Amino acid sequence: MAGTYHNFIDGEWIASQSGREFENRNPADSDDRIGTFPESDRNDVAAAVAAATEAYKEWRLTPAPKRGDILRKAGDILNRQKDDLARAMTREMGKPVFETKGDVQEAIDTAYYSATETRRLFGYNAPSEMPNKMNLSFRMPIGVCGIITAWNFPMAVPSWKIFPALACGNTIVYKPSEDAPHSGNLLAEVLEEAGLPKGVFNVVHGGVECGEAIVDHPDVKVIGFTGSTDVGKAIASKAGAMNKKVSLEMGGKNAQIVMPDADLDLALEGVLWGAFGTTGQRCTATSRLILHEDIHDDFVNKLITKGAALKIGPGLEEGTEMGPVINEKQLDRIAEYVRIGREEDEATCVLGGDRAGEEDAKLGRGNFFLPTIFIGVTRDMRIATEEIFGPVLSVIKVSDLTEAIDILNDTEYGLSSSLYTANVNDAFRAIRDIEAGITYINVPTIGAEAHMPFGGVKGTGNGHREGGWTVFDIFTEWKTVYIDYSGSLQRAQIDNY
Ligand code: NAD
Repeated sequence: MAGTYHNFIDGEWIASQSGREFENRNPADSDDRIGTFPESDRNDVAAAVAAATEAYKEWRLTPAPKRGDILRKAGDILNRQKDDLARAMTREMGKPVFETKGDVQEAIDTAYYSATETRRLFGYNAPSEMPNKMNLSFRMPIGVCGIITAWNFPMAVPSWKIFPALACGNTIVYKPSEDAPHSGNLLAEVLEEAGLPKGVFNVVHGGVECGEAIVDHPDVKVIGFTGSTDVGKAIASKAGAMNKKVSLEMGGKNAQIVMPDADLDLALEGVLWGAFGTTGQRCTATSRLILHEDIHDDFVNKLITKGAALKIGPGLEEGTEMGPVINEKQLDRIAEYVRIGREEDEATCVLGGDRAGEEDAKLGRGNFFLPTIFIGVTRDMRIATEEIFGPVLSVIKVSDLTEAIDILNDTEYGLSSSLYTANVNDAFRAIRDIEAGITYINVPTIGAEAHMPFGGVKGTGNGHREGGWTVFDIFTEWKTVYIDYSGSLQRAQIDNY
């Protein structure tokens, strides 16, 4: 059933002042209309920012453990609703239900982790260089945070930003992706039921215009962004000019290396999951497979057999292993990269390369693309260097680990990486030499855990890490306090030396 959905501002569900709306359909079935959502403009954003600014006055003074109680309750509600939420998320963004359940689980983990951290937002104390004086440093909330996200993890990714930001005493204006807006409203319902005061969390729907209005608003003090590198860089330069704090989680071109001494069956299972899980639409997806020449041919043959056997279908259908691509535009982009790959002399497409379900009435209603593998890829080809964000794997043959790491690093991105080997020395060398925010050993490039720092180097990030204890550095500022109880003026660096 299709619905008419609204923004969530100051605890109320309200229509956009712009009077415009956009439609949201199931990527597995274009006949399935989920509903319409507001195409918000600057006035809507201004209303949400005003509500968040007002709510900040009390929320920042609410004891952190009390804020944590609300987040814990949100975790309980997410847990209780996990199956229903997962199905709703699959309906609007496509990945199989077992994956959206994992997505909700990550939000649950983040809720509980953030709740616990509210009793532990530790500061520091350090000795003073003068007598009868005490030096302390505290984490302080910053104010209104603008959160802008991609669609591929519609519950986990926003939760990584929103829950820790709330734990620290900030308030939120959240713009979900226009490809997964319903999940944003579901998150608002969870936080409302958990008892979050009005105005602390606001949702405004829309696209570029709405996102830009959040970035431009002078009362939004922090921007937390997940999305493409081009958009992230544009946001960073605008926000930089306004002296705003910005945390960017952007694209990737991740690689898995397999050495001959590895457990090859495990490595095969790993690359299938890394490359074709979430239909390759993860920032951490394996889009390059770097294979040692001694195992190349045999490994590729097995990979083709396994890849061809993957069950493609609507994510709501039991047994589906790979769902649709998010939208027509992305489908065209993937097809274009396949065309580019096919034009390269040395590269050969050995699996897939086309839309799936041309002759299948059910699949024909959705944006399905076949698992696709290119072999004979060299490091400088566009399919080896540019983020495709689809089920396309480029296989590169190498003769040793040094060459493998050199090729893995030869990209503008630096998010995730993986090495399969049984050689402990090689593993430690890779950990040292790979340029990426995350390195997995005998694990695929996907599979982050909520309590560990998450993010990338080079074109993937701007030095911040979500997840774990490091996310609190994004959503707080340090306040240093000196307390002098000597009763006299003690001039630092002057009276004591
Ligand atoms: P996108 O950059 O097109 O959009 C991301 C968000 O930014 C959306 O909400 C969009 O409406 C908004 N937006 C677009 N233009 C804007 C502007 N000028 N100002 C403000 N907001 C704007 O990305 P996408 O297609 O939704 O997602 C795919 C990308 O996200 C891939 O590059 C993927 O690697 C990346 N991603 C990264 C991570 C990570 O943690 N590193 C996680 C998931 C996805």
